[in-house]
Amino acid sequence: MIYLDHAATTAVAPEVLEEMLPYFCEQYGNPSTMYSLGTRNKKAVNEGKRQLAGMLGAGMEEIYFTSGGTESDNWAIRGVAEGYAHKGRHIITTRIEHHGVLHPCRYLEKQGYRVTYLNVDKRGLISMEELREAICPDTILISVMFANNEVGTLQPIKEIGTLAREKGILFHTDAVQAFGHLDIQVKELGIDLLSASGHKINGPQGIGFLYVNKEVKLPPLLYGGAQERGMRAGTENVPGIIGLVKAAQLWQEQRKMRLETERELQVYLLQRLTGEIPHCIVNGDLNQRLSGNVHVSFPGIEGESLLIMLDMKGICASSGSACTTGARSPSHVLLAMGLTEQEARGSLRLTLSWENTRRELDDTVEALKEIVERLRSMSPDYGQYEKSLERCKIT
Ligand SMILES: *Cc1c(COP(=O)(O)O)cnc(C)c1O
Repeated sequence: MIYLDHAATTAVAPEVLEEMLPYFCEQYGNPSTMYSLGTRNKKAVNEGKRQLAGMLGAGMEEIYFTSGGTESDNWAIRGVAEGYAHKGRHIITTRIEHHGVLHPCRYLEKQGYRVTYLNVDKRGLISMEELREAICPDTILISVMFANNEVGTLQPIKEIGTLAREKGILFHTDAVQAFGHLDIQVKELGIDLLSASGHKINGPQGIGFLYVNKEVKLPPLLYGGAQERGMRAGTENVPGIIGLVKAAQLWQEQRKMRLETERELQVYLLQRLTGEIPHCIVNGDLNQRLSGNVHVSFPGIEGESLLIMLDMKGICASSGSACTTGARSPSHVLLAMGLTEQEARGSLRLTLSWENTRRELDDTVEALKEIVERLRSMSPDYGQYEKSLERCKIT
């Protein structure tokens, strides 16, 4: 198997699993109990929180464990909406957010909030000018993702944070794809709320956290026990927390090596794909981009057929058609970037890890050359696409 879908999820690192294992059958105490089997776990959870806070330049009282990115996004957005409704009911976000942000925003629109969805350019970047103009006296929150999960584009987070601060508006960022991979200092960047998830950084699934600036008055997410200072009740996912923290530490320690390796693999794969497959369009910005992300379009074919044929060769990848929703509609991110429906439908996302090898990429390129040619030879769309290029004298 060749796994090239690290933006979807990642394997748990062996060191992470090893750290987690004792917490299942031996150190299983409930952190809220009075005996040492539990209090030791309370200490371990707090130590983990201190570690994560340290990485972000935050205080440990500003970290809340959650079940992952989606929960953190929901809490941040619905929480600020509820907690600051007296100040205003306008939220600014972008058209390219993860559904974990977009769908809570849509829900809030039904509750009478106004939401502005910022456009992005061909590279997937928002315009600071458009953001500035979107700000109203009743704007309470700006939510802009750190790194896009489809095309890997990195937004100008510091500029957004600075502007938000200047205007007295809270700033949330979905950093699920960026946390671990990049050095994020929340205070320097002006971030008030930040979502992160364990399973995108070689930690386990079902664990994440929300950083909340202590000045922010967020209502509790879950009412019940006193866990997470009464803000998110429920017995802590102790093994998950231990795993998440270990995974984040490994990323921090090995960041330079991992990113350099990913960058080399990314450049190599892009070169081969664009050099060897006709009409291979690269999507997203080439510089302002996560190191492991390769996103291309092969006009004239269906992303889903491509994925099925890659799977038959043991290659795991993603496409820009929203098969995630069960519908065959092209990705909202690619359409927002101005891709045609045809380009969006024929798109392919390959997200690499430092653990992938050139050999794996070579095998993938060979498979793709064959599959793309086969699919195009059967596609009436492709014939028309070639004709249209000829008409416009584009080669
Ligand atoms: C994966 C992802 C999420 C969702 O995180 P979960 O932990 O799977 O809920 C949210 N935002 C982005 C950008 C993601 O890539």
